[in-house]
Amino acid sequence: MFIEIENLKSEPLHVHHAFPVGEIRFIHEDAALNEPVVTDFVLTHKDHNLHVDGTVQTAIRFVCSRCDKEFFRVFATSFDLSYLPQPKWTSEDGEIELKYDDMGVGYYDGVAFDVNLMVLEQIELAMPMNFICREDCKGLCYKCGADLNEKACQCVKEESGSCLSMLLDFKKKMDK
Ligand SMILES: [Zn+2]
Ligand SMILES: [Zn+2]
Repeated sequence: MFIEIENLKSEPLHVHHAFPVGEIRFIHEDAALNEPVVTDFVLTHKDHNLHVDGTVQTAIRFVCSRCDKEFFRVFATSFDLSYLPQPKWTSEDGEIELKYDDMGVGYYDGVAFDVNLMVLEQIELAMPMNFICREDCKGLCYKCGADLNEKACQCVKEESGSCLSMLLDFKKKMDK
């Protein structure tokens, strides 16, 4: 979905749109979109400088990094961003450098604003660093592969080392 800047009226543009899962090119090793991506935002503009304020919502399917099971989570994030026409930065060897800073300012080509790209970036920015199905997920036994959420296995009793991650989680709770 592109918004042509030339066609914008002077008043703010309210956009509510649901992208089918395949339309947002979200690629991640351990996660995938599970529901349409719904975005709702207001776009205001002045001299080709855009301001976009709104939300993105979907559901994401993760694989738990501890127990390897699939799980689903509703995902919602809000944003408040400015987009400026891309300046022509040129480095010494003549290559155009794209520079983005993380202060809520992005760039577009000054002609058409790519809503899909913005939505994708917002999803990627808000993704957690690692995925766990729940805070106290015990994970799999590193020796026999048993799911320790379901039952303890013999190896856990024998080797306290395998409980290290559990102990760390326990310690975190105690520290709170
Ligand atoms: Zn888990
Ligand atoms: Zn085991």
